[in-house]
Amino acid sequence: MISELETRSFLTNSDAHSLPKIAREYNKMQVEDISFKEIVKAIKNEDGRKILANYGLDPKLGKYHRTYCDDCEKSIETKEPVEFCPYCGGKNVTFGVFDRIELIKDKKESKSPSKRPPYIYQVPLGFIPGVGGKTIKKLLDTFDTEMNILHKLSEDDIEAVVGKKVAENIVNAREGKMEVHSGGGGVYGKVVSKN
Ligand SMILES: [Zn+2]
Repeated sequence: MISELETRSFLTNSDAHSLPKIAREYNKMQVEDISFKEIVKAIKNEDGRKILANYGLDPKLGKYHRTYCDDCEKSIETKEPVEFCPYCGGKNVTFGVFDRIELIKDKKESKSPSKRPPYIYQVPLGFIPGVGGKTIKKLLDTFDTEMNILHKLSEDDIEAVVGKKVAENIVNAREGKMEVHSGGGGVYGKVVSKN
């Protein structure tokens, strides 16, 4: 939606201040070997090197996706961005990323340039309904990494360790079949079952 960014490569990476969340956002790149030179080439789309995919949190789940009223503590999901709260009239609103884009975009529709790789949304285990600390530990003890569980394992394999309901929720989240409530004002979004 922003012309200025059309020629740019997009990357998503986790920041490093929360140990369990390191590498939660990452990229898949086509390179000849692992070196800075090759990564620069991939970012610049040179000599067949490229970014193949980005993996990251569904933006809706982010802590600052929508504008949030700090007075009445509600997420403000109006179509047009607002600078005051439509519920209580308060001016203490924390602007959301989505709303900021609405404000600065110069195109009507979101269209990715053909070279841009897919951004694959993922719902971390901690967001999935019915998945608590014990379940996460059990899953990680059995399957090693969260990304294995989120993207690769079959529903049957997961079910064998943590039961039908949890396995179903994990696979539904993977396939985008859960309802996502937007985050805002420093509070993460939420994932809920549709039924
Ligand atoms: Zn308010």
